[in-house]
Amino acid sequence: MINRLEIHDTWNALVPTWKLVWQDSQNLDRWVAFMLHCDRLLALSREQGARELEAALEPLMELLSDVDSLGEEKKAVVDVLLPGIFAAVRDICTQPAVRGNSAEMHDDDTPPLVVMLTPDVAVVDELLVQMEHYGYAFKVFSDYRMGLQIALNLRAVALVVEIGNGQDEQINRIVQQAEQGGLKWFAMSRRGDFSLRLQAVRQGALGFFLEPLTINSLVDALDPLVYLVKEDPYRIMILDDSPTVLASIGKTLEQLPNLTLRAIQQPDLVLETLLDFSPDVLLLDFHMDGCNGLEVAKIIRQNRAFESVPIVYLTSETSQAVQLEAMRHGGDDFLTKPISQAQLVNTVISKAERYRGLRKLMVEDSLTGLYNHVKTKALLQQALLQGERQHLEVCYAILDIDFFKRVNDTYGHTIGDHVLKTLARYLKQRLRRGDVVGRYGGEEFVAVFFDASLEQAMERLNSIREGFAQIYHAYDEGIFSVTFSAGIAHFPAYSNMMELMVAADNALYIAKRGGRNRVEAAVPAAIKAAEPLARP
Ligand code: GH3
Ligand code: MG
Ligand code: MG
Repeated sequence: MINRLEIHDTWNALVPTWKLVWQDSQNLDRWVAFMLHCDRLLALSREQGARELEAALEPLMELLSDVDSLGEEKKAVVDVLLPGIFAAVRDICTQPAVRGNSAEMHDDDTPPLVVMLTPDVAVVDELLVQMEHYGYAFKVFSDYRMGLQIALNLRAVALVVEIGNGQDEQINRIVQQAEQGGLKWFAMSRRGDFSLRLQAVRQGALGFFLEPLTINSLVDALDPLVYLVKEDPYRIMILDDSPTVLASIGKTLEQLPNLTLRAIQQPDLVLETLLDFSPDVLLLDFHMDGCNGLEVAKIIRQNRAFESVPIVYLTSETSQAVQLEAMRHGGDDFLTKPISQAQLVNTVISKAERYRGLRKLMVEDSLTGLYNHVKTKALLQQALLQGERQHLEVCYAILDIDFFKRVNDTYGHTIGDHVLKTLARYLKQRLRRGDVVGRYGGEEFVAVFFDASLEQAMERLNSIREGFAQIYHAYDEGIFSVTFSAGIAHFPAYSNMMELMVAADNALYIAKRGGRNRVEAAVPAAIKAAEPLARP
């Protein structure tokens, strides 16, 4: 198992030592400090079996081994090697927490399979039904050997094994074979004592469930194995009037995984490119024909939408006073020309990471992780614009949980929160890639169905409604279920966002009045008026 944090930290400690070498390549002490960090990174990569990083470090170590020749020339060569090393570090750091052949093989068409081995098959009957609602295929076996074989053959995403009931030897063999077959496994038991947990950990269990096993704890543990969240590539924009600089920066950054570049040469294109590309970082030339970077930064900051996008100046200006002045006017950092490739890569990525993190906080609802109100509306607007351009239909639905106040009053607010999270997760899972799901606040959710007719969206939403109603929520003394009502409106039948939202809201009201647990479609006035004529 690779300790990503350690590798990440070691890289972060290495970068400033390189900066010092870059400033004075004749200073041997600086080289030595830098080399110590390289050694440390190499040792870590070997220790932890990070082969690609080790391979990326090899030419560098080779180069550094000849201490006598350290100097300006070598500096240039090392600087070219460092971005490749950073790419390897970054690859390690952005890998999903749990990697495995079975999970990676999983494709979207078939539901992921979970196999449970337990002597008491009947006890999990209920779980069986619930797992299906959560999009899993679930099989239970009391014959452990047969269950294991099937899990291996069908490439299950995980195995859940009941342990601690006296079959130690057989269970040991089973989990050993599972491990050998690359199958991840979880322990489950009626006992939760330390020695049993320790035994499970030693045998490589990814988790430990105490019985009775609840659907939520199971699904929470399984989801990360199946649905690997892939970060969108970082978007890096460059404005520089020198084609040479653009080409050289492009070449350096292209080596990095998961990154897209947009380069422009003319300052007057900056706003529309920002709008269109929505970068995570802007690299901005300081001295350009006709205007300077400072002025461009001011123009950018005058637009609220770009208030916080990180700006990194590219400059040959070494005067502290000028640099300070530029930072005061909305700059976040400086890269001094000639630009060290290693520093370029590091600055760009760290700024982008931070900005992504901040933006995530701004657009997410903290309870459910869905898009919040503001972001949902922005995405709806975007979907409508795209729908208009491409002549596609878009449906907008607003969902409201039925009698949710009663849920809170009866089972408590915490359980209520859990219901909200469950619905959020269920919606996310059931909607498609191009669709949007957000939380509008309280117990109201929004779904945007992209490229769907009213009939299609209705059908899908009704199926979601029926599925959700069958999910059980647990409280201390038992289980209960919850329903929702929804109103749905169609674009272009309602031709702008305001009309669409009002229409869906009214339809929701009708659904509530009509008895709840139903989906109502909004009918435009023109159609309503025409109806009596259509049906004589
Ligand atoms: P209806 O079927 O008409 O929608 O009835 P309702 O009880 O669901 O509607 P109402 O609007 O009267 O009540 C909504 C409740 O949702 C009131 C509020 O306490 C609860 N609520 C809002 N936000 C949250 C939250 O974040 N967590 C929890 N647990 N409850 C919330
Ligand atoms: Mg409400
Ligand atoms: Mg409600």
